[in-house]
Amino acid sequence: MNRSSVIAATALFAGLSLAPIGTHIVAPVSADEPALYGYSVESSHAERQWEEKLRAIPSPDNLRAYMQRLSARPHNVGSPYDKDNAEWIASKFKEFGLDAQIETFEVLYPTPKERAVELVDGGPKFSAKLQEPALAVDPTSDQQAEQLPTYNAYSIDGDVTAPLVYVNYGIPEDYEKLERLGVSVKGAIVIARYFHSWRGIKPKVAAEHGAIGCIIYSDPHEDGFVAGDTFPKGPYRPADGVQRGSVADMPFYPGDPLTPGIGATKNAKRLKIEDAATITKIPVLPISYADAQPLLAALGGQVAPAGWRGGLGMTYHVGPGPAKVHLKVKSNWDIKTIYDVIARIPGSTIPGEWVIRGNHHDAWVNGAEDPISGQVAMMEEARALGELLKSGWKPKRTIIYCAWDGEEPGLLGSTEWAEEHADELRAHAVAYINSDGNGRGYLGIEGSHTLEKFSNDIAREIQDPETKLSAWKRNQLNVISNASSAEDRAEARSRADLRIAALGSGSDYTAFLQHDGVASLNIGFGGEDGGGIYHSIYDDFYWYTHFSDVDFVYGRALAQTGGTAVLRLADADLLPFEFGNFADTVQTYVKELKKLSDHMQEEIRERNKEIEEGVFTATNDPRHPLVAPKTEAVPPHLNFAPLENAADALTHSATEYKKAFEQANANGGAALASASLADVNKMLIASERKLTTAEGLPNRPWFKHQLYAPGFYTGYAAKTVPAVREPMEQKQWKQAEEGIAVVARVLQDEAALISSAASKLAAAAH
Ligand SMILES: [Zn+2]
Repeated sequence: MNRSSVIAATALFAGLSLAPIGTHIVAPVSADEPALYGYSVESSHAERQWEEKLRAIPSPDNLRAYMQRLSARPHNVGSPYDKDNAEWIASKFKEFGLDAQIETFEVLYPTPKERAVELVDGGPKFSAKLQEPALAVDPTSDQQAEQLPTYNAYSIDGDVTAPLVYVNYGIPEDYEKLERLGVSVKGAIVIARYFHSWRGIKPKVAAEHGAIGCIIYSDPHEDGFVAGDTFPKGPYRPADGVQRGSVADMPFYPGDPLTPGIGATKNAKRLKIEDAATITKIPVLPISYADAQPLLAALGGQVAPAGWRGGLGMTYHVGPGPAKVHLKVKSNWDIKTIYDVIARIPGSTIPGEWVIRGNHHDAWVNGAEDPISGQVAMMEEARALGELLKSGWKPKRTIIYCAWDGEEPGLLGSTEWAEEHADELRAHAVAYINSDGNGRGYLGIEGSHTLEKFSNDIAREIQDPETKLSAWKRNQLNVISNASSAEDRAEARSRADLRIAALGSGSDYTAFLQHDGVASLNIGFGGEDGGGIYHSIYDDFYWYTHFSDVDFVYGRALAQTGGTAVLRLADADLLPFEFGNFADTVQTYVKELKKLSDHMQEEIRERNKEIEEGVFTATNDPRHPLVAPKTEAVPPHLNFAPLENAADALTHSATEYKKAFEQANANGGAALASASLADVNKMLIASERKLTTAEGLPNRPWFKHQLYAPGFYTGYAAKTVPAVREPMEQKQWKQAEEGIAVVARVLQDEAALISSAASKLAAAAH
């Protein structure tokens, strides 16, 4: 997966003027050179020089050559080239001077055996092609023997025939609309378009509403000819292009469906396939818009609501029927080996603290953009670190580079590794930095807010290849340009750091952050490359080198970003966690929850009033009838005081920490170089673990983080404070109150930890 094409880059960065790339300037320590956060003046000076050296090393030519090699053939899980790539990446890491090994797991991995989508009644008989054609100009598009057929992994087997219903994006609010239209999907096959949720949400919600099958198609409105010229003339999805992808219920738990919570090693205890909760309840297949058009054209019933109409140049109807569709999905349910490449640079003085960096290497097909554009940048980072080692650099902490397998079907490689090594990670991991593909534009950084300041500091060091501004400055100006209010613009101009968004899911940070409580960041450039080749045979070297970061200068910028972040974490005297931004963020979450509560009360009160006044009967058009909504109980007032008190405690402890930091930073930060910081660093590392509970979230215990989770009904998008927000959204008020108590306790414990770290740091400064 790779959300960079789906989400707008969130942003970071302040205009340090950078030395032109490729020059090494070794200046004497200047009195006004500000020390890096967490470094004494002396160690900061040395660090800056190493970082500048590092940023001069990554080469666009290498990135291009690696991409051509890694995307030369299809390399999905279980394919010969997947294993071949893993071995090649391991050999490169070794060549760069890292200690690399391949770690394997055995995972359930279905591949298609039989697939059919047919219009059997209600229109001209039609069988979907379910095949992406090779294009003469695109040299890897004809490797049909090695290409996975178009399918959605972890769809249950099924053979169903039923009337068709169009459900727009297939998210919960679309079903509310269907209810008003008086349309039920019970016993029907639904057809949903891609976008506006992670794809696995669509069959999940359809099944909850009684549908017996689900077809997902790519409407040209989203990533086809409405958006721009189609491939090969332009970057967008051609008529027969199909988005493959996993539909396992990953917001319940990611990773191998048969081994939740434990590593899928050879002898691991496995669930039976029929007991694996993350396999879909109904069969699912993805199709192209060429295949979807005859099905949609055969729908009758009401005209689709305004926001539901796609780009196919016809009147969209909702159904049900008269189109009747036959959908058949049958898979080979095999166990396959996945190959994680794990490379280490041992720490010289604090080997027990680990800085971890990862990007997956498996793809749905050739995967030049997703994930190879990110993988090659990470490899150049590793090469750059190897070069620094040769020139005498010794990282304080241990650095681990991970090229994950099996991300596409279900975050398999990273999840199994993080489950297998959970105890070690909880003991040793400082932070995890993820990427998953790369493009042109803005530096996106999302993640743990204890690292928000750190992310901004890194973004200030990176030069944007197109504007030559720092990546931070370009992001700041972009935030100003897109702000929806004067208040937001004022904040972007005046707040020291740009805000980073919380992580939901969709890539390999999930197990680190949300299961093991390791502070995490996700990085990647994007926002300027549109396209519609995501998870198709056309995501390949030809497409990437014609329509994306064609000269690999953003690949170099990503290598500079990841490399600088890793180096700075690995070498810091005091780990660069910061709690002012963190507390500020928690305060905004609490305010949002209170607002949500007020808003829900107002909305239901207003609707009840309108029902009583007869608004819905008076405005009903008998030729286009709508079902009036039912009156609902107005939500009770929730007691947010425990959360507000906990957020205030956090703000207070963050201020204590800041004061202690300033003391330690005085006089050139001599105190920062002292050995007595070991205990403080341990507490800083523990600060993210403290945000998890052993019990995890209600109804999904695998997810342990109490601030960040993927939405149970959104999938990619984060739900912050999920144990409170999600029950509220689902109108489960008692559970919301219970959630408030749990999260308040977690935040109070966090505040106590930050206060202890502050005292220890203040003591070290004396
Ligand atoms: Zn990906």
